[in-house]
Amino acid sequence: MHTPDKSQKTFNKGDIIMRQGEFGESAYIIEKGSVEISVKKLSGDSILVATRGVGAIIGEMSLIDNAPRTATVTAKEDCTLLEITKDDFTRRLDASDPVLRMTMQVILTRYRDTLIRADIRQEPAPLPAAESIELEYLGKTDAVDNIRISNEFMEALSKGEICLHYQPIINMQDGSVYGFEALMRWFHPERGFISPGIFIPIIEDSGLIVEASKWAFKESCNALKRIQGQTGYHNDLNMSVNFSSTDFSSDDFLDNIYNTISETDVQAKNIHLEITERLLMNQPAQAKETLDMCRKAGMGISIDDFGTGYSSLSYLHAFPINTLKIDQSFIRDMHENENSQALVKSIISLGKNLDMAIVAEGVEQIEEGKLLKEMGCDYAQGYYFAKPMSEEDVIKCVSNWDHDMI
Ligand code: C2E
Ligand code: CA
Ligand code: CA
Repeated sequence: MHTPDKSQKTFNKGDIIMRQGEFGESAYIIEKGSVEISVKKLSGDSILVATRGVGAIIGEMSLIDNAPRTATVTAKEDCTLLEITKDDFTRRLDASDPVLRMTMQVILTRYRDTLIRADIRQEPAPLPAAESIELEYLGKTDAVDNIRISNEFMEALSKGEICLHYQPIINMQDGSVYGFEALMRWFHPERGFISPGIFIPIIEDSGLIVEASKWAFKESCNALKRIQGQTGYHNDLNMSVNFSSTDFSSDDFLDNIYNTISETDVQAKNIHLEITERLLMNQPAQAKETLDMCRKAGMGISIDDFGTGYSSLSYLHAFPINTLKIDQSFIRDMHENENSQALVKSIISLGKNLDMAIVAEGVEQIEEGKLLKEMGCDYAQGYYFAKPMSEEDVIKCVSNWDHDMI
């Protein structure tokens, strides 16, 4: 059976199927017979590099770029080959998963690059630079951009391109600073600032979040110790650190938390772990055990983005949670949307009934702050009070804090 894009071709023993240095637009799958692959080195010597039989694919790199063939293929016996044209291949790739597609293209590009470096090509000149092909893909697709971000992350961490900023959390009763939330920042030398909203989900997918969280936890405990010391608020300031579900799957999660707390000499009661409802839903048994241990050790457990996740509230009883952070979407339109206001009110009374503290996130205006205070909200965080800032700025800011903002 033939299709317009796939066709059988026959070759007699000794025929040249493709010649090194010539341009070709097709790859072939060997259906019958076998072939010999040889390459001519720059010295002029031809060497046999491989023999391929039924089922093998030859000339596959021509499907990816327009560079000339890197080897000569000769029929070792009478052969039948199935041709795959570049058009057909492109159509198939376009229809496939984008990550798969880009990974495939990048791998083949690198493979060709390796061949060039290995000095087995006859004519290096007409070849488009492999790097530029790769960059073209990288610029075009989200999927590869994600791969690149993930690849660059660990190096960025070791080079100090990634740091933490700390956003003050305010005690609504007396207007003092209760503590901070540690938020990751990536200042990329070429791309500029990359938002954690972009890179955190990517490093969660690739699993790098586990190392990143360990780093962030240690860094924020050390920072808390210094901020407490330099502002004179010794054991009165707290630090909230974000964790992802993947962190909880790591075998040494608890050991790392305990060790870091003891090494950095912070008090467990000043440390809050921020987690999402999703984590509790995904790994209920494991999460409960781990969180119970953290609570027993004295740490606080906060549910982040509360109100945006699952409708069932039964998990609130099942886990040792002591703080709910109301998602900023409810706060943002609270003063003009009665439904949001009613929701915020209910979350506050739910928290009171369950003996949990409430933090309102994303407070941008004084009216929102006043309303929240009236409703009995315990803590608030948002641009109205302070933006996330460097440790140095936090120390200055807390030392001169205006307690009458609310
Ligand atoms: P989040 O945990 O909900 O953090 C609060 C986000 O709201 C932060 O965004 C903060 O800068 C922003 N924000 C605070 N006040 C206001 C306000 O008044 N208005 C508005 N519009 N935004 C406000 P950011 O720093 O961009 O972080 C985004 C998300 O990235 C975080 O959301 C968190 O889910 C994640 N993230 C950041 N750092 C870490 C980290 O170290 N570990 C993990 N696992 N996730 C992190
Ligand atoms: Ca958070
Ligand atoms: Ca949040």
